[in-house]
Parts: sequence; structure tokens; C-alpha cells
Amino acid sequence: MPETCLFCRIVQGEIPATVVASTDEAIAIRDIDAKAPVHVLVLPKQHLRSLNDATDAGLVGRLMALAVDVARNEGIADSGYRLVINTNEHGGQTVHHLHVHVLGGRPLRWPPG
Ligand code: 5GP
Ligand code: ZN
Repeated sequence: MPETCLFCRIVQGEIPATVVASTDEAIAIRDIDAKAPVHVLVLPKQHLRSLNDATDAGLVGRLMALAVDVARNEGIADSGYRLVINTNEHGGQTVHHLHVHVLGGRPLRWPPG
């Protein structure tokens, strides 16, 4: 668990965040710079640099399931939403601790830039 990792520090409670859901292995927090009316990040408590390091398919599935729970609780499950996992440089990943973006609350354009 790198001391310098922003999301590890949030998991440890060293940096405040608005937690909207939590399990034994993951938390869901509001993005500090929301790109949509609903913008939540689902992250494993364990430090994994990116999806490339997520060798436990069960964990990946549970992160997705938690993201769906968040979408339901935020009231966007029926209107629709998007799950995004930016991976490494070309994927636009800026925080190198695996996270799933849950975006919704407005129509989202496609394709992404
Ligand atoms: P990425 O670009 O790596 O896919 O997504 C990182 C996300 O983390 C961005 O949407 C950014 O706004 C968010 N973020 C960066 N710093 C913080 C922070 O200190 N707290 C929270 N809650 N979100 C953050
Ligand atoms: Zn981390």
C-alpha cells in the first residue's frame, strides 16, 4: 500500500472523501471534480495500479456489482449510466489505483474523445 497513493490514503481515512457505499473490500466515493450530475468512483481497498493488475476476476465482478448498486441508489439505473475504467496513459488514467467511474444523471456523448 504505497504511502503516496491518493486513493490508498482516502481508504485509510487520511484524506477526507464523501463515501456513498462501502464493503469489506471496496469503497465508493464522490469524485472531487464531477463530470456529470452523478460521478462516483468505486475502488478496491487493496492497492492495484490498474485493471491490468486485477488478476482476481471475482473482485472485478464485485466492483462492477457495487457500481450497479451505486447507480441504483443514486437513482440513475433506469435513466442510464456509464461505467468507465481508464487504464494507463492512452486510457487517460491519472490516479494509479484501480477505480471504476460511475457516471450519469444526464445524456452522455459517444464516442469519448
Ligand atoms: P482517472 O483520470 O484516473 O480515471 O480518474 C481519477 C479521478 O479521481 C478523476 O475523475 C478526479 O477528479 C478524481 N480525483 C482526483 N483527486 C481526488 C480526490 O482527492 N478526491 C476525490 N474524491 N476524487 C479525486
Ligand atoms: Zn493505492
